[in-house]
Amino acid sequence: RNTRKHTEPLSFFDREKDDIDRENQLIQALGRALKEKELQTHYQVKVCLQTGSADDAEALVRWYHPDYGMISPGEFIPVAERHGLIMPITEYMLYEVCRQLQKWDQEGMRSMKAAVNLSARHFHLVGANRRLINIVESMHIDPSRIEFEVTETAAVADLDQAVRLLEELRRAGFTIALDDFGTGLSSLTYLQKLPADTLKIDKSFIDTITSSEKNQAVVKLMIDFAENAGMKTVGEGVETKEQAEILTELGCHYGQGYFFQKPVHPSQLQTLFSIRQQA
Ligand code: C2E
Ligand code: CA
Ligand code: CA
Ligand code: CA
Repeated sequence: RNTRKHTEPLSFFDREKDDIDRENQLIQALGRALKEKELQTHYQVKVCLQTGSADDAEALVRWYHPDYGMISPGEFIPVAERHGLIMPITEYMLYEVCRQLQKWDQEGMRSMKAAVNLSARHFHLVGANRRLINIVESMHIDPSRIEFEVTETAAVADLDQAVRLLEELRRAGFTIALDDFGTGLSSLTYLQKLPADTLKIDKSFIDTITSSEKNQAVVKLMIDFAENAGMKTVGEGVETKEQAEILTELGCHYGQGYFFQKPVHPSQLQTLFSIRQQA
């Protein structure tokens, strides 16, 4: 029985073992976790800054290990990528998201959409597009309700492969978001090649948006760039009312962050949604 608090940051990596041992132990546990369905899906809303409506949410993987408590995705996703476990995780998350969309439909929330994070590894996996499309088809979900998020850095580092996969997914009806945007310092020439519908402005820019005019100007540039390219914008990691207000003034479309809501179990998300709907 697990007596540790989930907030306690104990992990495999705190143990006195060499790195390879730790990584092997983690990967074995992760393989089992996938089989035993220890992985969970939490959701964080993206709030429309104009209307306050929240009918869109990002799915974030959560792993509660029976002995070690909560292990953060920042810790196990990179290990999963190195050991061929990332596609199973993506497929698991996509199934979960489809199931949740079906559930929302049954509860009358047909306008709900959701986003799934994609790893750069998928750019190189033959048939990755087909596998993702098949899942959504088999679950009878309209692909336009699912957005795939890829980081700007990953997409630009692997431009040709990324463009190929993202175009295939877009052709199938999905939308694409460029995640952690602004951190890659990518040239506009590259960015224009990437098929994307949404820009997610990285949290590091939002953090300083109230204190630095220069940063505010940079965010404004990103929003204008997106606008010109016909893309939507999301401000990531919004933690204060002031940040939300400035983003709204600058014309950013959506805000995501602890100020609005932390990632939560979908049962809690529904409550929030219905409160907003009634308001
Ligand atoms: P990300 O895709 O950039 O996700 C946003 C992260 O920022 C999440 O951390 C979220 O909980 C956190 N966050 C959101 N709002 C705030 C805020 O206001 N303040 C602060 N301090 N943090 C905020 P999380 O869930 O720990 O995920 C970390 C990263 O792990 C994600 O970054 C993503 O790159 C990766 N990840 C998470 N779930 C998945 C998944 O299902 N598949 C893949 N491939 N990667 C995932
Ligand atoms: Ca993301
Ligand atoms: Ca992000
Ligand atoms: Ca990130």
